[in-house]
Amino acid sequence: MEQELIYKTIGVIGCGASGGLASILLTKNPYIKVTAFDGKEPFTTLLPTGGGRCNITNAEEDLKEFVKNYPRGEKFLLSVFSRFSQKDTRKLFENLGIKTFVQKDKRVFPVSESAVKTVKILKEHLNTSNFSYVKENVKSVIKEGKTFKIITDSKKEYTFDNVIISTGGKGRGFEIAKSLGHKITELKPSLCALDIEEKYLYKLSGMTFNNVEAEVNTAVLKDGHSNSCNEISPACKTIAVKHNCNGDIMFAHKFITGPCIFKISSLSAYDNLPFEITLRLTQCTKEEIESEIKNNQKKSIKNVFSTFAPEAFIQEILNQNKIDGSKQTAQIKKSEKEILINSLINLKLHVTDRISYSEIVTAGGVDLNEINPKTMESKIVKGLYFIGEVMNIDGFTGGFNLQNCWSGAYICSKSFE
Ligand SMILES: Cc1cc2nc3c(=O)[nH]c(=O)nc-3n(C[C@H](O)[C@H](O)[C@H](O)COP(=O)(O)OP(=O)(O)OC[C@H]3O[C@@H](n4cnc5c(N)ncnc54)[C@H](O)[C@@H]3O)c2cc1C
Repeated sequence: MEQELIYKTIGVIGCGASGGLASILLTKNPYIKVTAFDGKEPFTTLLPTGGGRCNITNAEEDLKEFVKNYPRGEKFLLSVFSRFSQKDTRKLFENLGIKTFVQKDKRVFPVSESAVKTVKILKEHLNTSNFSYVKENVKSVIKEGKTFKIITDSKKEYTFDNVIISTGGKGRGFEIAKSLGHKITELKPSLCALDIEEKYLYKLSGMTFNNVEAEVNTAVLKDGHSNSCNEISPACKTIAVKHNCNGDIMFAHKFITGPCIFKISSLSAYDNLPFEITLRLTQCTKEEIESEIKNNQKKSIKNVFSTFAPEAFIQEILNQNKIDGSKQTAQIKKSEKEILINSLINLKLHVTDRISYSEIVTAGGVDLNEINPKTMESKIVKGLYFIGEVMNIDGFTGGFNLQNCWSGAYICSKSFE
């Protein structure tokens, strides 16, 4: 007699990176039926990643170092990645037919260096009889006894034994999770461009500085509290460095951007605006700059300082501070020399806004205290799971955000075995 198959039905809400991979892994089990819901095609969100090359993960081997790349989620991910690491991701992708390689800076890419090809291969894995796709967004989820009712935008209703919410950082997953009793921590843009008070620098649109060292400053207030602060007001006791990082920065038409700025935006996602950042634009020391001035007394101020930074930048600093750059360095005033040297090694900028339309990830999401990192199951609603960016997890650039998705998808799928 033929044995009757016992099916478990799972509704996956959002078929991007995490929901897509979870669907692939779950449908390897013939006893599971998966229905994924998404207004977009599966894995569409992977297409722009890594500038179209898809930076799958990061090859940092030391787990403790790896999790330091997540301003939100570090402790939770230590547990998650000890079960499924970046190495496991590379093996899994290879098994799925996507070989990877490690770049000099430890970023991992598919050998094809093509997000389009990667998505094509991943989509092929969804061609199985126990997978169905509803190309529609989910409006709400209702828990009915032991099952879940998913209601789509067109009011169609579906019932499942289990539900996985994988709607990323911009979807309706936050509202759905909240309606099911979960706490959503405050949502903020992260890995985004920043607007600054010093608008005159936007005239330098397109100019890049490499290996900039940056500090985010914070003021320690007299009452003992610390707060980001753009000036030493009487209320402030001292200015302390809150975060530091380095990398390239770029001036754009209406904001500053680049890897270093993204990192600053991530580290300071919850700091009050405005806040002050200090940039060291050159590797040269103050002494080296001073000696260049001393040795070139007959040269113009503009020419001498232009050996340390692009001429257009020096010209903007000269204009802004009403310094005559054609003067010989022999005639430079002490205060003018200080201004110019500081513009190179101690440039203070005041961040007035986060450019939310430029954000790559969202900081904040479903409270991690309410999710079991061993299964990704909700601690509040049995049978409900969260994976990917919908959780209060976000990382720096370098493959860290996708690694969170792959590990969550794998662990969640394993919990159904
Ligand atoms: C331009 C760009 C480049 C990036 N590059 C990289 C990179 O190279 N490496 C890296 O690690 N990270 C990168 N990231 C971040 C990474 O892409 C995300 O962290 C990751 O995609 C999040 O995966 P997820 O599965 O949580 O959500 P997503 O991949 O965003 O997928 C969520 C899915 O849910 C769907 N959805 C939303 N609401 C609903 C609803 N109500 N019902 C049904 N479906 C819904 C959406 O349509 C979407 O398809 C990049 C992000 C951007 C924007």
